[in-house]
Amino acid sequence: MSVATDSPRDVCASGGVTPRNEVVMLFETTLPLGLWSRLTSEPSEYRPDLGPCWIWHGATNGKGYGKFRIGPWGVSPDYVYRLTYKAFVGAIPAGLILDHLCRVSLCGNPRHVEPVTQQENCRRGLQGVLTTHCPRGHAYSPENLIARPAGKRDCKICHRDRMRVRHHGR
Ligand SMILES: [Zn+2]
Ligand SMILES: [Zn+2]
Repeated sequence: MSVATDSPRDVCASGGVTPRNEVVMLFETTLPLGLWSRLTSEPSEYRPDLGPCWIWHGATNGKGYGKFRIGPWGVSPDYVYRLTYKAFVGAIPAGLILDHLCRVSLCGNPRHVEPVTQQENCRRGLQGVLTTHCPRGHAYSPENLIARPAGKRDCKICHRDRMRVRHHGR
């Protein structure tokens, strides 16, 4: 039986990541299980054509981006979406940063990010999106907003999910 021959580089040059089965990706990856076990697949509201988001349920940088410590003794912190991109697509081109096409900063699906320049990233404005949506992409509508002290905000849908996990497990 032949193995797929298209290298990640070719796929990247053709302008996107070829959708592959998540299970196949799981077996091909060199990423630690500790990272995989904290990702769940959820439908994308903004770009359903790109397949589901891989929502991160671990530590964040406090601004809605997932962080993970990798390498020997877990000494190298990096962002989850950068780690999955490097594992499945390849090196992030020098000088470019990864922009979330799905507008969900907690998403680690390598198909949902695109390397762009810093200016392009600012122009597209995920920072702006993050003031109107929670890191999982739920809109901060008046009904879905919990105001916290010190100007912090929380999303009711996410808050409810966290409570459910805390009381009933998964
Ligand atoms: Zn996504
Ligand atoms: Zn939310």
